[in-house]
Amino acid sequence: MENDLSMLSPAAAQFLAADHGMLIGGEFVAAESGDTFPVVDPTSGKEIAFVAKGEQRDVDAAVKAARKAFDSGPWPIMKPSSRARVLLKLADLLEQHATEIADIESVNSGRTVPNTRAFDVDLSVDYLRYMAGWATKIHGETYTPSVPYVPDTDFFSYTLREPVGVVGAITPWNVPLCQAIWKIAPVLATGCTMVLKPAEQTPLTVIRFSELLNEAGVPPGVVNIVTGMGHSAGAALVEHPDVNKISFTGSTEIGQIIAAKSGESLKHCTLELGGKSAMLVFPDADAEITIQGTAMAIFGNHGQNCCAGSRLYVHKDRFDEIVAGIVDFAKGIKLGPALSPDTEMGPLVSKVQQKRVLGYIDSGVEEGAELLVGGRKVTQSGCYVEPTVLGNVTDDMKVVQEEIFGPVLVVTPFDDLDDAVEKANMTKYGLGASIWTKDISTVHRLVPRLQAGTVWVNTHNVLDLAVPFGGVKSSGIGRELGEEAIRHHTDLKTVTMAL
Ligand code: ADP
Repeated sequence: MENDLSMLSPAAAQFLAADHGMLIGGEFVAAESGDTFPVVDPTSGKEIAFVAKGEQRDVDAAVKAARKAFDSGPWPIMKPSSRARVLLKLADLLEQHATEIADIESVNSGRTVPNTRAFDVDLSVDYLRYMAGWATKIHGETYTPSVPYVPDTDFFSYTLREPVGVVGAITPWNVPLCQAIWKIAPVLATGCTMVLKPAEQTPLTVIRFSELLNEAGVPPGVVNIVTGMGHSAGAALVEHPDVNKISFTGSTEIGQIIAAKSGESLKHCTLELGGKSAMLVFPDADAEITIQGTAMAIFGNHGQNCCAGSRLYVHKDRFDEIVAGIVDFAKGIKLGPALSPDTEMGPLVSKVQQKRVLGYIDSGVEEGAELLVGGRKVTQSGCYVEPTVLGNVTDDMKVVQEEIFGPVLVVTPFDDLDDAVEKANMTKYGLGASIWTKDISTVHRLVPRLQAGTVWVNTHNVLDLAVPFGGVKSSGIGRELGEEAIRHHTDLKTVTMAL
């Protein structure tokens, strides 16, 4: 089950054949060490490209360029409407290169072309346009202070919303370009500058996108891209004294390290971390909508979503019926190469991830879980894992408590609403939860009791660019998307004057 690379658009094939430097100060450069690392196609397990292996020295150069572009460049002081035009141009350019970029993303991440086209390209185009709108709408407020201890003077105060400065952004591999654009678009809208380090598994579309920045009119040094490993390039970015804010999306484990390091120098920090989102199905739920919706919540994007619905709790009266429906759905999913038009689910992103997911399934079975469907790796070459459902699980099992980040669902019956709430809230995570019912009072009674940044009703994983997204508990700090993203990239300056 390998990709037929002759299906790639000529532009994508040409890009893959080229050498890939990093964007620092408007120039594409090799790592100072001259080192590179391979990028692998998870469908075949073969190397498809080599990219620069940036380390501390390269991060230093990139932060210096971003600092200069912020402190003395035109970008932060440019008219908001000019910044908006640049964002709109960037969106147009990305749209023009949609086929090529979706192809590159599919080969690199193992996800089908319709998937990469919808989420890495089309949604990214929309977010650049959405954030272009915000560039001209950032504003402070006015106040009429009383200042009771200076009774004879009138005062006037106002706030300015100013860019936070140099942003260090670190992104994961699950929806690679989309995750990067979620970082880049608010940086550009607010007049910040940045250094972005994409995940080492999937740097290619970010590199290709960075080739469009110059043509769109983004001044040199405003967006810098350093490719490299997390423990070296990523850590150097987090520890750099000239970075004002870290925006991180990735695992809770690394998020905790980043939060601690950011705390040492009091950097702003937004963290979008792991999840173990619960789906609660009530007795009156619509069978068809619920089976299709909950199955896609865990099997969509191969379960490689931080908000994937990875725990299913069904009222005991409907448990057998709903679980049987999901098992049938899982059996019907067609696995295959990312580039094949028949494929519904491609491989996981890497051998490491495949091993990790299979290890979780084995641990569940060893602890007494029942394999209702799936559980195997399918072929020897690609990083495939079958859609998997585990029944007969207990609350203390690793498969129930820990984020697997793969197509693995655990299912358990519940007795009543209180039992459902207790089960939903019992992991350390708090990213998403979904409620499946036609009863509006069940919804309203549940929403305040669920520990989650997002609660969906009769749907799951639906994100909109205007709607804030993020987690509570160990799922993160801060929010992305919508106006919240503008707030998180700006500081308030207060001005008070005696009249
Ligand atoms: P995953 O386990 O899914 O790969 P990670 O949290 O390890 O998730 O990785 C997400 C991003 O964080 C990647 O870009 C990775 O290179 C980066 N990263 C990993 N470790 C560190 C670290 N110690 N400091 C900064 N960034 C890191």
